[in-house]
Amino acid sequence: MKILISNDDGYLAPGIIALADALSSIAEVTVVAPDSNRSGSSNALTLDRPLSAYRAANGYYFVNGTPSDCVHIALTAIMQTKPDLIVSGINQGQNMGDDTLYSGTVAAATEGYLFGIPAIAFSQVEKGWSHLNSAARVAREMIEQGFPTLSQPFLLNVNIPNLDYAQIKGVKAARLGKRHTSEPVIKARDPHGRDIYWIGPPGMAKDAGEGTDFYVTGQGYVSLTPLQIDLTNMRQLAQLQSEFGAGEI
Ligand code: MN
Repeated sequence: MKILISNDDGYLAPGIIALADALSSIAEVTVVAPDSNRSGSSNALTLDRPLSAYRAANGYYFVNGTPSDCVHIALTAIMQTKPDLIVSGINQGQNMGDDTLYSGTVAAATEGYLFGIPAIAFSQVEKGWSHLNSAARVAREMIEQGFPTLSQPFLLNVNIPNLDYAQIKGVKAARLGKRHTSEPVIKARDPHGRDIYWIGPPGMAKDAGEGTDFYVTGQGYVSLTPLQIDLTNMRQLAQLQSEFGAGEI
């Protein structure tokens, strides 16, 4: 099995190193990741300048671009053959609910999925890398077990509680929860007296009800959420089709 690994925390992040180490025992692993932390970059592609890929001493490739750039370059230029699976992470911090729209971790997986390759994004619920080896073991076991019943390609989002492996209760399939609106920007002054703004933290969970990723991870389970990319609102489409017509064939 060939696996392409990327992330959004950068190629030096402990999460990607733990993931690559864990997966190299079961697969031929190629790592292509951003040269620095690009968390929150979503699915951005860099179109206003050229990109470069360098190879680090440990064999990882690093790119001066976004997670999506990395997977795009890996699939179309670096890798000689298509990988069987794309794995992103392990991210420092949860990607649950609306986070998935902003997440570069999820985006790296999404870029692979858009190329027709199954992809999984892994995140740890808490920041700080505690119990990282436990999370890497969960990722390895999930990949070893595979998802034979899912149609290909699939796009999965996984959040792992920061717990000892023995304390993790298991894996639960979960839907995305929802967050409240993000906190306001944090306003400050730069040394020249000009106003500057830091984007504030995400909102607290608004829908963390049973069955959500927020809920199951809070109960000590790993959350497993299948994602899709088609943003069409089917109910409103039907409504608008009856009003405006469905288009000519
Ligand atoms: Mn990140």
